[in-house]
Amino acid sequence: MIIDIHSHFFPKLSQAEAAALNRATAPWLKIGADARFGDIYIDEKPFRPVYDALWDGKARLETLDQQGLDVQVVCATPVMFAYAEPIAKAAAWNQRMNDLGTEFCAADPKRLKVLAQVPLQDIDAACKEVSRVKQNGHVGVQIGNHVGDKSLNDEGILEFLNHCAAENMPVLVHPWDMMGDVRMEKWMLKWLVSMPAETQLGALSLILSGAMERLSPDLKICFAHGGGSLPYLIGRVDNAWTHRDIVREDCPNLPSSYLNRLWVDSAVFDPDALLFLVKKMGEDKVMLGSDAPFPLGEQQIGSLIENSSLQAAAKQKILGGNAAHFFAI
Ligand SMILES: [Zn+2]
Repeated sequence: MIIDIHSHFFPKLSQAEAAALNRATAPWLKIGADARFGDIYIDEKPFRPVYDALWDGKARLETLDQQGLDVQVVCATPVMFAYAEPIAKAAAWNQRMNDLGTEFCAADPKRLKVLAQVPLQDIDAACKEVSRVKQNGHVGVQIGNHVGDKSLNDEGILEFLNHCAAENMPVLVHPWDMMGDVRMEKWMLKWLVSMPAETQLGALSLILSGAMERLSPDLKICFAHGGGSLPYLIGRVDNAWTHRDIVREDCPNLPSSYLNRLWVDSAVFDPDALLFLVKKMGEDKVMLGSDAPFPLGEQQIGSLIENSSLQAAAKQKILGGNAAHFFAI
């Protein structure tokens, strides 16, 4: 069974619906006259060109057939998170997005599975929404790697992660709201440089803060884009931990010793990088993730894994076996 665990949807939101949350920051969809292509807009500015597989579940199923996928796990596009909005509005917005996610997957609920989004700026509301959507068939939850200045080691976010573990709801951490200054403004540098760094920052905030010691061992947590810069730079972190007490002060064990509690997707786009990732994380901890249907996603989903020199048994796990276990699907 081939399962893609990292793909996005975006519902048909009008400009008025977005404005009801926040005219300046909330995203909406402008569909072209041909009804097949469109753009996500933020206010009056086009944010990203998109096509119907993003908003239409039936069109998405056609792409699953074309790509030879059995199951695709979809989640919100991170611009939908609404973490900076007042909680009353954000809670209602999150509920609506989650209900629209269920509608998207209604085209074939066996092949399209959805992750929830939650108002992570309010931990009680976020926990409540996870428990609500679990009853509605959501198979997990997607969170951003930070909420404003709060990284994943924030006490409230740890409480949320432990709630997810108790509810047996796996978590996908997606980088978003990327760091950067004027040097990052061109050539999608925020996506190419800051995004992998945001992912590494999220994972390291859990490891170096000692939070891994307090998180439930039952927590299933996956970092997008092959864990960003983390797997490649974990040796640098271990070296720093060994030689500087300020790196060690909150983290009792060698940072790399915690990698076996983390999962990653396979979205690294390079055969050598995939082999390295599997070696570093273990063949049970890497899952096919495409980032479809966006231009920065894998165009022929699964081809990187299928064409790699990995053993057949490892390929089978990474293409679907690990995901079936992770999401219990
Ligand atoms: Zn993504």
